[in-house]
Amino acid sequence: MFSNNNDSNQECLNISSMFQSFNPAVDGDIFSRRCIWVNGPVIIGAGPSGLAVAAGLKRQGVPFIILERANCIASLWQNRTYDRLKLHLPKQFCQLPNLPFPEDFPEYPTKYQFIQYLESYANHFDIHPKFNETVQSAKYDKRFGLWRVKTVSKTGLLGSCEFEYICRWLVVATGENAEKVVPEFEGLEEFGGEVVHACDYKSGEKHRGKRVLVVGCGNSGMEVSLDLCNHQASPSMVVRSSVHVLPREVLGKSTFELAVTMMKWMPLRLVDKILLFLARIILGNTEKYGLKRPETGPMELKNTAGKTPVLDIGALKKVRSGKIKIVPAIKKFGPGTVELVDGRILEMDSVVLATGYRSNVPKWLKDNDFFSEDGIPKNPFPNGWKGEAGLYAVGFTRRGLSGASLDAMSVAHDIANSWIEETKQQKKTAAARHRRCISHF
Ligand SMILES: Cc1cc2nc3c(=O)[nH]c(=O)nc-3n(C[C@H](O)[C@H](O)[C@H](O)COP(=O)(O)OP(=O)(O)OC[C@H]3O[C@@H](n4cnc5c(N)ncnc54)[C@H](O)[C@@H]3O)c2cc1C
Repeated sequence: MFSNNNDSNQECLNISSMFQSFNPAVDGDIFSRRCIWVNGPVIIGAGPSGLAVAAGLKRQGVPFIILERANCIASLWQNRTYDRLKLHLPKQFCQLPNLPFPEDFPEYPTKYQFIQYLESYANHFDIHPKFNETVQSAKYDKRFGLWRVKTVSKTGLLGSCEFEYICRWLVVATGENAEKVVPEFEGLEEFGGEVVHACDYKSGEKHRGKRVLVVGCGNSGMEVSLDLCNHQASPSMVVRSSVHVLPREVLGKSTFELAVTMMKWMPLRLVDKILLFLARIILGNTEKYGLKRPETGPMELKNTAGKTPVLDIGALKKVRSGKIKIVPAIKKFGPGTVELVDGRILEMDSVVLATGYRSNVPKWLKDNDFFSEDGIPKNPFPNGWKGEAGLYAVGFTRRGLSGASLDAMSVAHDIANSWIEETKQQKKTAAARHRRCISHF
């Protein structure tokens, strides 16, 4: 059987029938790589989205392979998040399909608890990704009706090995946060102090007593600033334009949950009005401290532009007390200094760039019309999970883990249906067996 178990992958030993029309000029290095048939989908990415699809396929008996560039599952959470991170949303909005969080987990699990949950999720569904394997390109080969996925796999100290996977279905689960966004700033190379992206920031411990410029005021920027304060550093947070800050809870109830409930019954704009009213009562006028609100309401902005409102977990109190200073946009950097657009020049010891992330799909998915230039499916939620020719996307809804779970269920169900259908046909037609590369169970 061909499954997610590495031992059962079949190397492409007898492919002459399929590649009778092989043309070296077009097909390039197909015979220089080790070639592997996958009897089922290839899933790219072993984050929560990839795991959720894999679990759904497992439950329906569909074999698959997961390719993951890192050496572990959920690499974003394990390798690229700060120590104090907790889930921003209550746990019921963050669990993956078919396995709830343990009951003794708090309302907002820590990142370590979330990783523990994901590890047990993978174990529970017996999911074994192929680690250290980076997808370099994926292309649909119209002649054969198959996807060709080229990877480079790290082996041992400095070695690497190249593979080509051939499959009927391709699931893109590489995430909205695959690469860090690092804007260009004039003079940054002269700055001299440490400059890190938020994905490499772990804790404020090493910044104790230091002046730190935090660039960006989303959830990460706010939380990094709070963490710096808690470690007796002096953060200045750059707020270039506007931001919606909402209380994480209203009268002990999650603001997010409240918003989701209201959206079922009321128009979006009314929900936004109520949220802003509550925010004003609980947090006061945030504009007074330099945190100007966007014209568009928080939920409308989330739905239209994917911009998540900040759920305050204590940073605002530090802003009010002046421990987190709010500063306007950056003009340029100098040696140990930053010049702001209002003309002020501030001395700084280090810089944390909480400037966000982007999808990496455009780098490796070839000739595709399904994803836009920014690597997000062109069709908005809830219609962005299925493309043409067996292409699927999971986790690009800008709706966090709950959006990823919904996608994953749709994708697993859809693939299972076509897989069962094609397997039936394959039993009937020996020729189809060769063409579709479906092996026996
Ligand atoms: C700091 C932070 C906190 C967040 N907190 C929450 C929260 O509380 N609640 C919530 O709902 N959402 C939250 N999110 C948003 C989102 O839910 C998470 O980012 C979640 O991890 C997305 O899961 P994913 O599997 O889609 O992507 P990822 O977790 O990013 O997983 C994608 C995987 O694909 C791999 N990959 C990428 N490119 C390749 C390639 N070319 N070849 C092979 N593998 C590749 C990556 O290594 C990665 O392991 C948060 C995001 C961040 C950044």
